[in-house]
Parts: sequence; structure tokens; C-alpha cells
Amino acid sequence: MPERLETQSRKLLQRLRDTLAEDSAGQARLDRITHLIADSMRTEVCSIYLFRDPETLELCATEGLNPEAVHETRMRLGEGLVGRVAKKGRIVNTANAPQAPGFRFMPETGEEIYSSFLGVPIQRLGEALGVLVVQSKDAREYSGDEVYALEVVAMVIAEMTELGAFLGEGAALSARHQQPVMIRGTVGQEGAAEGRVYLHEPRVVVTNPIADDPEVEAGRLRDAVDTLRVSVDDMLAGARAGDAEQLQVLEAYRMFANSKGWLRRMEEDISRGLSAEAAVEKEQSIARNRMTQSNDSYLRERLHDLDDLSNRLLRILTGQGADTGAEMPDDPVLVARNIGPAELLDYGRSLKAIVLEQGSVGSHAAIVARALAIPLVIHASKITTEALNGDNVMVDGEQGIVHLRPDDTVVTAFRDKIAMLAKAQERYTSLRDKPAKAKCGSVVSLHMNAGLMADLPSLEGSGAEGVGLFRTELQFLVRNQMPRRAELSALYSRVLDAAQGKRVVFRTLDIGSDKVLPYMKPNDEPNPALGWRAIRVGLDKPGVMRMQLQALIRAANGRPLTVMFPFVAQYDEYRAAKAEFDRTLERERKLGHVLPASVEVGAMLETPSLAFAPNQFFEEVEFLSIGGNDLKQFFFAADRENERVRRRYDTLNVSFLSFLETIVHRCQATNTALSFCGEDAGRPVEALCFAAIGMRGLSMRPASIGPVKHLLRQHNLDDVKAVIDEARDSGSQSVRPAVMDYLAKH
Ligand code: PEP
Ligand code: MG
Repeated sequence: MPERLETQSRKLLQRLRDTLAEDSAGQARLDRITHLIADSMRTEVCSIYLFRDPETLELCATEGLNPEAVHETRMRLGEGLVGRVAKKGRIVNTANAPQAPGFRFMPETGEEIYSSFLGVPIQRLGEALGVLVVQSKDAREYSGDEVYALEVVAMVIAEMTELGAFLGEGAALSARHQQPVMIRGTVGQEGAAEGRVYLHEPRVVVTNPIADDPEVEAGRLRDAVDTLRVSVDDMLAGARAGDAEQLQVLEAYRMFANSKGWLRRMEEDISRGLSAEAAVEKEQSIARNRMTQSNDSYLRERLHDLDDLSNRLLRILTGQGADTGAEMPDDPVLVARNIGPAELLDYGRSLKAIVLEQGSVGSHAAIVARALAIPLVIHASKITTEALNGDNVMVDGEQGIVHLRPDDTVVTAFRDKIAMLAKAQERYTSLRDKPAKAKCGSVVSLHMNAGLMADLPSLEGSGAEGVGLFRTELQFLVRNQMPRRAELSALYSRVLDAAQGKRVVFRTLDIGSDKVLPYMKPNDEPNPALGWRAIRVGLDKPGVMRMQLQALIRAANGRPLTVMFPFVAQYDEYRAAKAEFDRTLERERKLGHVLPASVEVGAMLETPSLAFAPNQFFEEVEFLSIGGNDLKQFFFAADRENERVRRRYDTLNVSFLSFLETIVHRCQATNTALSFCGEDAGRPVEALCFAAIGMRGLSMRPASIGPVKHLLRQHNLDDVKAVIDEARDSGSQSVRPAVMDYLAKH
């Protein structure tokens, strides 16, 4: 870069800083800035356009265009050259603006006499704030150096704008983070809550975008990058050899941390006059922008890694940790790009709701949120850039909608909704000690699903008869290493204590598929859901299963014990697992441990194959529980984790319901206790239909017990069965419309 230009742009930034330091009013200051830029860059025009709202840009200051047009000229996102820069987040540099695609003539500005146009986005960490434009009469394309200089200036403006330095109350930008925003995401866990935003990892605040002394700034950057490299090397040294995914990310970190190009670009930014922090942010902004535009998922992942790394670098430079000292509000709604299950457990039940920009329904964090019964919305696009700490937020976990800084009408409607849900909950509480007895006299036993110690208090309040499914893998998932037998035994014992004699069905470790233990060697399987998981792992690696069975037997310590094996696909798997249990029991006896007062051993029916197992299997197994989440995905060949197909097939589809009925009949014929413990058991209409086809046990989230019981108690199962049969005979694909119709009438 020529020395002259370098000093020129540095001078410009220094003049800019002096201007910003002046005590002038917002608009005057903005005008000074455009004047300064036009003067330094020797162009006739310099204008700043800022977002009035997410769809509209407004001319906020200009040197060279008609001053009357300021705050009058507006354009929509994507409209004209300015709108195009804002929409794409990319520079437009043209010698002949009127001929450029998308040009829109705005007579009020008087810009028709200017031929060349250079527009650069004003953005902060990928968030579009506005557009900075220079124009001149002579038809020329701006040089690479000029483009670069303008980008650097735009970066400084972005920082200043963020600090509210330009405009007063009510003006475009400072208003941006005050306006209501509605974000549509995906339901992770139902429920509705109101609270205030608490950012899991608040942004680093950069207060000094302009360098006093580029030499010093370059030195600070180099030192910080050195520290970063050492920390990445440490992370790599500490990583477990088996965790391919973690290693891949860390290797990418190392590659970026050692990338000469990255460092060179940031050094160039500094030599132009930016501070080290602003230089990191400028490159991060460009990477984020590319990330949102890219269709290549691999590239997006890597840009993501670069983003994380930039955050680390910023934290090193500013000394701001993940905890910036922001106080946790009384009613915190956690907002994060993503979060791990262990971190979520650290926050525990203090959270009112959780909103994630990423995440997936089957992720461990979602499992934990469900276990804690905290409303969760995932895939809430841009929530981390839109939300500020302390913002008022309403989370509708029923619809997957987040209202950020809602206006009064939304607040009123939403509070009504919360009140309605609470009222319903109250009604359910009054049913707590009543049986789920239908009008016809049939009684359905309702149990709850659990997986954490934190779930157990719900056993009392929900009215559940016991725990129909205790997912033991959560204890394995939230740790960094394999839990020890004594630890597990102590935990299971506490679970039984808390259950106070109510039945707890402990499901043995169900890992594999989406549940990958951080400390177990991951298997690169093309179809993990159909792969080496659950009982298959248990039987191939009996050490872990034995350890868990021992822990369970010791925890029972003379109390009754119920154990269930997951994902049994055929008879001999059950027999092998049961034999392992019997051997363990015998060993424990020999070792002198107190044996359980009674044992019940059962299996989960999660693969269609098991429904057609020999009669002897049904006679031998003490109970069966239908894992509807898995069973349904295999029945319809529709991945439960895949948002595109997950909801494509109705649970009340005639084929699936008839299949469930076949299982009910086989269990009735062999006198095998049967229950259903997938998510569908907690949906009242589904639960009613399951009961109508003869299912007498349902296990669900504690919060669902009330609504399910309420509906069951109002209806005659024989009548519902007649509706189902009639719909089936009529050739309907699903019995749902007929059942809903019946419910509406009764
Ligand atoms: C199921 O598959 O329905 C089930 C209850 O088990 P999980 O959701 O833990 O796979
Ligand atoms: Mg399952």
C-alpha cells in the first residue's frame, strides 16, 4: 500500500475521531463527518444512509447532495444502488451509476450529475446498519485503496453508531434496538413466558475504534494473537484423542490462528488507523456476512469457527470475559447462539425461557430444557444481534415465536395467553389426586418421564403415579467423563428416595444416534439413528451395561427395582440383556449386597420388528413400553431430527394407529403390561385415541399429565373407539379430523 495513502486514511480517521470527540449535536456531527470524508477523499459527494426500520433506509446526512433531501429521501431494502449495498452487504463501485443495474433516480437529491458511485455497507458484526456513499462527477471507478479507506471509515461509523454517538432519541439508528421485533423460530419446548433478555455471551464492547498509534496497536494485536495461539494449542493438547468433531473444530481454530492472511488483513486495517479491536471486528464482520450468504455448509461451519476465534481474540484484547458483569435479571430469558447441556444445567431452573439462534429439537440442550420444563424456542434467526441485555421479551414456546421489545397490544394478548395457560394449570391441579378414569369406567395410569434429579419434585405436584421412563443417559451426557458406579448408584438411590415408593422405570443407557457421549469414541456412521445405539452398544460392550445394572441394584438396596432395555429389535437381544441382568444380580448376591425386594424387567418397543416377535417374547417380557418417537420415525421412514419430514406424518394416521392396535392386542393376548412413553403420550388428543384402542399406561412430560387427565375424564372411550373405527372404514388417511369433530361436538 502506498505510504501516502496510508497516512492519508489514518489522518482522516484521526480527524474523524476529533470530530466525534467534539461536543456537537448529533446531526451536526453527522454532517461534519460527511464533509470530512468528501474533503479527504476529494469527492464531491459523501452521504450516510441509515436504517429507519429493518426494511427502510433514510438519507441522514450528506455533503454534496441537496441538503433538503436529508431525512426526506428514503428507499426500501434492495431498492436502488444504496438499497442493493445494504441488502447484499457488498460494495458497489461503478464509474457510471445511472447505467448500473438497479439504479433508481431520486430527483430530490440532485444526484443525477454524479457519474461515479462507491457504496460500502456500514455493518457491525454482520448486522447491517446503513450505507456510506461517495460520488463524483467524473466517470471513474474508485481505486482499491479508496474502497479500503471507505470501508475502514464505515467500520468506525458503525462503532460510533452503536454507541449512540450520532443521532438523538427517535432517530434511525438509536431506535433500531428499541423497536419491537417478532422472530419466528421452532418449538423446542412448549410453554409461554415473559422476562428480560440475558445474553449467554454478551458482545464485547469496543470503545476505541480509532488507533492513537498504529505501531502500538499492531503490537497489541500481535501479542493477543500469540496468546490466542498458545490457548488454542493448549486446547488441542487437552482434547481427547477420540473426539473427532472437537478435534476438527480445534484444528480449524489453529489453522485460522496461524493464518498469515488473517493477521495481514488486520494489520492493514490498523495501518489505516483502526484500533486492534476494530480491526478484528472488521474482519469478523466480513466473515459473518459471507457466512449468511454462503450455501456451502462446510464453508459456513468454518466461517463459524473463525467467528468464535475472533470473539476469543476480542476478549483477549479487551480483557472482557464471557461474564461482562451484566446483572442477571429476576426473570431471565436466556438468549444465545447455542448452548451446551452442562451450561444450561448451571443456569438451572432460574431461567424463565430460552431462545437459541441455532440448536435442534433433539439436541442435548433441548433435552435438558424439556427436563427442566423451560419454554425453548430454537432457530430464532438473528436473535443474538437483535436482543440487548435487559430487553423485554415474550417467548411463545407453543408457537415457536419470540416477541422482542413487544408493543402494548402484543403484551396484552400475550399476558392473556399466559393467564389462560396458568388457569388451565390450576384446573389440572385440582385433578391431581383424581384417577384418569374415563366416562366408560376404564382407568388409564399416567406416569411421568424424567431424566434429571431436578425432575423429581414434579412427581408429587403433577399427579403422576410414578416415573414411566427415567432416561439415564442424561447423567452420562452432561459429564465430561464416564460417571463412576458409586456416583451413579448414589444418584439412583436419591431418585428412589424422592419417588417415595412410587414405581420408577429406569431405562438403561440409550446412547448413539443423536446422543453422543463426549468421552466415547464417535463412530462415523452413515445413518446413526439406524446404527450402533442403545441396547446394541450395551450388548457389544457389556462392561458399561454391567456397571450401570450394578449401580441400579445397589441403589435399590432392598427396595423394588424396575429396569427397561431400550431399542430392542428382536427377541434374543432382550434375552441376552435379561441374562446379563440375572448374572449381575447373582454376582451382587455373592458379593453380599442387599438385593432388590422385587425386580421387573421390560423392554422398549421402538422398532416395528419387535411388534412381530414370537409369542414367547411377549410371554417372557414383564412389560413393554412403546417408544413412539423412535417407533414412528421407523414406521414412516421419517427422521425425527429432520425438520423437513418430522411432522409430515400424523400420529393418528390410520396405518400407525392400526399398528399400535396390533401391539395392544398382542399384549392383551399374552397378558403383558403395555404403556406408551413417547412425546405423543403427552398430547391430549393422541392420548385419548391411544386409550380408546386399549392402551392403559401412558408416560409423558409432567406438565402434560393435567391436560391429558382432564380430557380422558370427559369422554367415553367406547364412543371414541367407534369414531376411530368409522373413520378408518371410511378410507380416511388419518382419524384426526373425525376425532376433532367428535370432540368439538362433545
Ligand atoms: C422414544 O423413542 O419414544 C423414547 C421415549 O425414547 P427417546 O425419545 O429417549 O429416544
Ligand atoms: Mg427412543
